[in-house]
Amino acid sequence: MANWLFNKSSNDAVSNVLSEGGPVRAGATFAAELRFEEVSKNYGERAALAGLSLDIAPGEVLCLLGPSGCGKTTLLRVAAGIERPDGGRVLINGREVAGPERFVQPEARGVGLMFQDFALFPHLTILENVAFGLKALPRAEARREALTVLARVGLERYAEQYPHILSGGQQQRVALARAIVPRPAVMLMDEPFSGLDVQLRESMQQETLALLRETRATTMIVTHDPEEAMRLGDRIAVMRAGRLVQVGRAEDLYHRPAELFVARLFSEINEIDVKVAAGRAATPFGPVAAPGLGDGERATLCIRERSVGLTAVRANGGGEAQGLAGRVRDARFLGDAMRLEVVVEGFEAPLNVRTRVGHDVARGSEVRLCIDPSDVIVFPSSNGKDT
Ligand code: ADP
Ligand code: MG
Repeated sequence: MANWLFNKSSNDAVSNVLSEGGPVRAGATFAAELRFEEVSKNYGERAALAGLSLDIAPGEVLCLLGPSGCGKTTLLRVAAGIERPDGGRVLINGREVAGPERFVQPEARGVGLMFQDFALFPHLTILENVAFGLKALPRAEARREALTVLARVGLERYAEQYPHILSGGQQQRVALARAIVPRPAVMLMDEPFSGLDVQLRESMQQETLALLRETRATTMIVTHDPEEAMRLGDRIAVMRAGRLVQVGRAEDLYHRPAELFVARLFSEINEIDVKVAAGRAATPFGPVAAPGLGDGERATLCIRERSVGLTAVRANGGGEAQGLAGRVRDARFLGDAMRLEVVVEGFEAPLNVRTRVGHDVARGSEVRLCIDPSDVIVFPSSNGKDT
């Protein structure tokens, strides 16, 4: 694998990023910390960012996940310096790049940007497109470096061609090469894979991740796809309405979602209205711990579709039947799972259950259901219901 990323002395790289109004090229031979402190940004009356604080560790890949319109692109633009925050500060390696008294221009931040639509220049060759990120270098040197990166993404044979001849995935590679050739200490990517076919997406995700690891660039990837966030992020920051809801590893967000909103993102769940008494929610499966909820409060019980244990009841089978009795109202084959709608005694609405294929559970089957109480989460009723 080419080592073009490491052929520059690290002192040089550090001084590039740290110097005032430094040059376009910033080294990624060291890793930079990206920090947002109470950042706010308003468009008219509307707060696109409402006092958001977030730390991204040197070399970390953080996925920013949230629904459309929650402020993801705005945060990325603020980090890049395309947008000025109305309040708070942005720091790269402890150096303030945006704040009340200070604003460092985008080209002096050592930040690389990649957008969803690739935005290649149609009238420039593919090599010129990549070399575009190296305007500060002498032409011959810029071309040489661009060619090395183009080779790294497997496209050097197209160097003298124009972008229109490339497929979507190839254009994406060129855009990636262009963003990364100046060796940015921080890479900011706005929904970089959403324009690709599903088949292509996964391989591009893996290639991009490998390249980012080589560069050691601290990376923020914006996405609205929870699976993509889990696949790519060392950590995931969940955003809603200009604020951070929760930040953590995929496992943390999955097992310990801070809000119903987060739980919904990471698994298919049944949401059941329940009442709390003595710190527990009464359910047909038995009582479930409802920490922090008061007597008489209404709460939402979350049961993951995949966490429901299901056994088929055989007409003349022996043994004690365990669990709640139910009848399958609908059964759908989903490839690696069956999705069942089960009418269960004690529940007003049918429960949705995902189970491995192979169960003998056609429509009309009698089944027994059980849950693992430690895998069930209870949220206050108002929590996350507004979105
Ligand atoms: P996301 O990327 O999460 O979809 P954005 O950051 O693009 O969200 O937008 C956040 C909010 O700010 C949205 O309500 C959007 O309409 C608004 N917004 C973004 N950019 C502008 C702008 N230039 N002018 C006015 N409103 C904007
Ligand atoms: Mg956006």
